[in-house]
Amino acid sequence: MTENPAPAPEGADVDVRERLVELAKRRGFFFRTAGAYGGAAGFYTFGPEGAALKRAVENAWRDRFAVAEGNVEIDAPTVLPEPVFEASGHLDTFDDMLVECADCGTSHRADHLVEDHADIEEAEGLPPEEIESLIRDDEVACPACGAALSGEPVEDFNLMFETAIGPGSGSPGYLRPETAQGIFVDFPRLAEYARGQLPFGVTQIGRAYRNEISPRRSILRVRELTQAELELFVDPEGGGPDLAGVADAELRLLSAEAQLDGESEPYETTVREAVDAGTVGNEWVAYYLGVASEWYESMGVDPDRLRFRQHVAGERAHYAVDCWDAESEVDGDWVELAGVADRGDYDLSKHREHADERFSVFRQYDEARTVERTDVDPDMSELGPRYGGDAEAVADELRALAGRDPETLDGESVTVTVDGTDYQVDTGHVEVTTETTTETGEHVVPHVIEPSFGVDRLVYTLLDHAYREDEVEGERRTSLALDPSVAPTLAAVFPLTDGERDRAEAIVAELRAEGFAVEYDDSGNIGRRYRRQDEVGTPFCVTVDPDTHADGTVTLRDRNTTEQVRVPVDALVALLAALRNGDRDFASLAAEYPVVGDGDGSAPAPDPGGE
Ligand code: ATP
Repeated sequence: MTENPAPAPEGADVDVRERLVELAKRRGFFFRTAGAYGGAAGFYTFGPEGAALKRAVENAWRDRFAVAEGNVEIDAPTVLPEPVFEASGHLDTFDDMLVECADCGTSHRADHLVEDHADIEEAEGLPPEEIESLIRDDEVACPACGAALSGEPVEDFNLMFETAIGPGSGSPGYLRPETAQGIFVDFPRLAEYARGQLPFGVTQIGRAYRNEISPRRSILRVRELTQAELELFVDPEGGGPDLAGVADAELRLLSAEAQLDGESEPYETTVREAVDAGTVGNEWVAYYLGVASEWYESMGVDPDRLRFRQHVAGERAHYAVDCWDAESEVDGDWVELAGVADRGDYDLSKHREHADERFSVFRQYDEARTVERTDVDPDMSELGPRYGGDAEAVADELRALAGRDPETLDGESVTVTVDGTDYQVDTGHVEVTTETTTETGEHVVPHVIEPSFGVDRLVYTLLDHAYREDEVEGERRTSLALDPSVAPTLAAVFPLTDGERDRAEAIVAELRAEGFAVEYDDSGNIGRRYRRQDEVGTPFCVTVDPDTHADGTVTLRDRNTTEQVRVPVDALVALLAALRNGDRDFASLAAEYPVVGDGDGSAPAPDPGGE
């Protein structure tokens, strides 16, 4: 099987996209794994710059979604045994729709082909038969060879990678398709750790594996991906979160209702307004939409190219009661970055049905309650001869009835139904006892709110939204306006001449000792050195020159404006820390320190994706 080439979405500037991917490869952000062996579709290696950017994203996610919220983090295996995925429903339903070209054998994701050709934005929720009709009606052709796909069957294809645990045939296992199952499956231990107190949240950042039918658009759809997920266990009857911290967070929402009305533009609102208007039904979901919106913006996602779209019926995963996707605009297309789902009690109920351990927590009543419990002891010596092979089932049904509807046992006979057959049971053959007990609480299955983030797609979005290019004297210059909080290198230090090398190296050593990611570069003219750093998104450059020896100051240059100020070497550590943490911006430095001429004479490159 070969994979289809990535079609360019409508409105995409293919050249810019190609140049960005080329930059990513050349400057060590990401590239196809094992290129020397022809690569393997859907597998990418993050190079030194990309790995640093990805790590910064993961750390920032950890700080915001785990540490700042008081949620804990775990690290579970990536391989899990088959019964886990039987219980979770992934074996049955974690499918995408596959259509294969009879002429060239290329496999395609059928719903994506339909989205690319027909006037349908979301085809994922449509049944395979409808996708087949759309392929026929819209005369969809194979993107690889052009042959008609009409009449080819559309089949469900399970995306999980199977493996064998242990030698020989072993026992079947699967690489996890999402990090979440590692949390659900160990809920009994985690609930114990949380002392059974709801709500509590467990996060995990790690690899997940999906045998995508057609991986495409570099790291936007890969077969080995990194997810950052939070499973928040809440009491279904408990209160919602305190919205105060995010009430004014801005959201660009596209509700399911608006989509059904043919709307494709999001409207601007706030978390508070969305909750009050009932647009977002669950307050926990609204809370995390607000957290996500602010967090994405702080990472450098362009807020005008970010929206939250509610899943329409049919699109929702098998477990989701409600789900909103965070989507970023990339190359003229909306790409799902994350989903914030209300999963109800689906996950824990499923594991509760299949596993021996307790997938619930004990909810203490405010005051102990006195309750009457009715129990029955059917006389099997009577029921056996009367109901034969169904006698045990009849007895079980009587016991269930005693818990459910004890009054029905007061009469002379009672009707119970077993496998569709009604049996009239004489209550004289059933001993009924009623006991009064005091209960202090009950077992409840928590509901799950799940913010599930993709790290790879966010890394791509950050690069895309930061990408700037222009042409100076026939030479194309590119820069990445990455936020200082995530930029792989915070500052580069240059000696202006050979005479300043030692001093520049000493500054590098000092900054590194403080934990800053710093580069040293003494090759080529200063303009070239700036270009090299601009291209990988280094926000600040420090130039050491002869004046440094005299007055202990260096030139600090801002990548985005190319503005330069003269600052004391002794202040560098504090200033860089403040710039990285967002406590100061460069303009405030320009107000405090002497501004020096624009050394390299370059204006910042404009944003090719901007207005
Ligand atoms: P899609 O519809 O694009 O296949 P999904 O709805 O199946 O995605 P989820 O199961 O909600 O995705 O996974 C959570 C997040 O993981 C997504 O929002 C996305 O950022 C990321 N993700 C999922 N599949 C991939 C993939 N193949 N490559 C890169 N990231 C992915």
